[in-house]
Amino acid sequence: MKKIINLLIGTNNKGKLREIRALLPKNIKSFSVSSFKLKSPIENGKTFEENSLIKAKYFSKKTKLLCLADDSGLEIDILNKAPGIYSARWGGKNSDFSKAIKKVYRELDKKDKNWKNKKIKARFICALSICFFDKKIACVKGKVEGTISLKPLGKNGFGYDPIFIPRGKKVTFGEMPFLKKFKIDHRYQAFKKIRKFL
Ligand code: IMP
Repeated sequence: MKKIINLLIGTNNKGKLREIRALLPKNIKSFSVSSFKLKSPIENGKTFEENSLIKAKYFSKKTKLLCLADDSGLEIDILNKAPGIYSARWGGKNSDFSKAIKKVYRELDKKDKNWKNKKIKARFICALSICFFDKKIACVKGKVEGTISLKPLGKNGFGYDPIFIPRGKKVTFGEMPFLKKFKIDHRYQAFKKIRKFL
């Protein structure tokens, strides 16, 4: 029998929380940030890794629990990798993702009027960190390559899922059932690297 480990999932994003919980082994007892009524820290790092460490350290210190935190986002090559670490911020104060998606299409139109006739390469990135107070236990990165769809499709998932078609598939993450998406995405790729630390 493996020892039970108490682990805080350092996110206020319900979509991420659901995916991370589905990946955890059975010996992990997970806690959510919302049950501690904690706000998220200011993410002033320059990379996904830095921001995931900021969150893991902050939430661990606030709760005195071991914390696993994620920082993730979408990089679009012809937009010089935007929105990148600003992916959440493109949704505005209320994290309105129809607004963020409209901004993606607006920026693509501005960059290249003919973008719809091209393959718009993009990838989701996820950095996962485990910290205990200020101590870094692990920090890893995972990614999934793909393209931007011509219009938003599908109602599953969250965030930019309706506009991202993973490489080798014909549908967006938004059209995929949860059980399919969470086994191929960037969070899963990062999780495969970090699970040995749990
Ligand atoms: P942050 O890591 O809290 O700064 O937010 C990352 C943002 O990237 C989220 O709010 C989502 O909009 C987007 N994002 C991250 N992972 C996914 C995903 O799996 N699907 C869709 N959008 C995602």
